[in-house]
Amino acid sequence: YFLPGSDYLITGILTWVCIIFELVLGIKLNVRIAKSFGKTKGWGVLLFFFPFIVSLILGFGKAEYIGWCLSFIEDAVEGICDEEKVTWYTNVSRIKRKISDRLGKRAAEQYIIKRVEELLGTPVQFADDCQKADELAANLKPGEVLLLENLRFYAEEEGKPRGLAEDATDDEKKAAKAAVKESQKKFVEKLASYADCYINDAFGTAHRAHASTALIAKYFPNDKMFGYLMEGEIKAIDQVLGHPERPLTAVIGGAKVSSKIGIIEHLLDFVDNMIIGGGMVYTFKKAQGGTIGDSLVEEDQFDVALRIVEKANSKGVKLYFTSEVYATNDFDNNADKIICPSNAIPDGWQGMDASPAAVEQFREVLMNSKTILWNGPVGVFEINKFSTGSRAVAEAIAEATAAGAYSLIGGGDSVACINKFGLADKVSYVSTGGGALLEYMEGKELP
Ligand code: ADP
Ligand code: MG
Repeated sequence: YFLPGSDYLITGILTWVCIIFELVLGIKLNVRIAKSFGKTKGWGVLLFFFPFIVSLILGFGKAEYIGWCLSFIEDAVEGICDEEKVTWYTNVSRIKRKISDRLGKRAAEQYIIKRVEELLGTPVQFADDCQKADELAANLKPGEVLLLENLRFYAEEEGKPRGLAEDATDDEKKAAKAAVKESQKKFVEKLASYADCYINDAFGTAHRAHASTALIAKYFPNDKMFGYLMEGEIKAIDQVLGHPERPLTAVIGGAKVSSKIGIIEHLLDFVDNMIIGGGMVYTFKKAQGGTIGDSLVEEDQFDVALRIVEKANSKGVKLYFTSEVYATNDFDNNADKIICPSNAIPDGWQGMDASPAAVEQFREVLMNSKTILWNGPVGVFEINKFSTGSRAVAEAIAEATAAGAYSLIGGGDSVACINKFGLADKVSYVSTGGGALLEYMEGKELP
């Protein structure tokens, strides 16, 4: 049973930063701030504890996320576990930052083992080394669960060589790759030997042919399944591309045409309307002869942009670009902003977000849609000053959903965006797979 990993480390580091801040700087600073608040002691106390409160909230947030992941496990394991033995393959903890095995185990104990034991009411065994779990697997009693240490401690999981010298020649790289692909065979075989039946629930890695996902499945020709999360993702995509209620509208944003060209071209075969927003708009506008000031542009994509417009016309797909934008002369929260047409941006200014008038047009299209797919923010939503366009799009999608439309949100930044505005539970489905969803939407077959 394979679950996408989570980054508990950030919480830990932030907590320590907050504590150090409190000890070194905080006390002095807070006393001064508290004094400036005069006699309002409540504020002083609140400020004094502020860093701790922040770290507590972060900690709870992370625990919530892990709890959410575990609820899938709970559903899945409840269905199969009474009489069965479960081996669980994970990617918890980060290997890239050279975290020691011990930390991985500690995280597993702290976040997963205890909680799964609680949920299942059954003991959970933990194998420190995913390649040396034979004994534990063999001794597993019916109803028990065996959790394996992060598979990515081995290069064989991803099948990519590690530790190559920076100046390695092409031949050396090729040889290293061949070696890891060779040792990967034994690695997969070992993983497969622990189980009689395999369930994959890691949609987030579904676009990669890794050992514990695509490769291991071949060892279970008849006894393999998807988990509930995978099922949910596929059903959601099918609802949009398979048999959508029409009109079907795709909102495609983000920074670059080059990263979205695959998905745009493929979606043009399915959708009735396509809204194109974000940084890629300026490539289209410039290709069509507009002036875009200092906005983001990919001159080598002009042909592609014009081809997309042509394809949309010939398919009868209505294209809506951000017609009017907020532009800035500086990339930060305190910068000035002006409103101008997206094809007439003055020199020295760059388009950052959709203006209220542009968003109103998007809203109208969205409110008349029965199915909506959103990938890519329509502005630099990370900077609050330029998040109003993306927020308005998120709100319009939530409103359309409340009025009966089906809405699917996908892509790492888009999901961060809908979460930032607290609207994730107001849309029909929020995908857990960034790259996997995009590749699926491009019409690629996932391994
Ligand atoms: P996703 O991860 O959902 O697929 P992308 O990675 O394609 O989305 O795009 C998200 C990024 O696009 C965000 O970091 C956002 O700041 C950026 N972006 C959106 N609009 C603009 C713009 N006008 N100029 C520059 N960057 C933009
Ligand atoms: Mg992204």
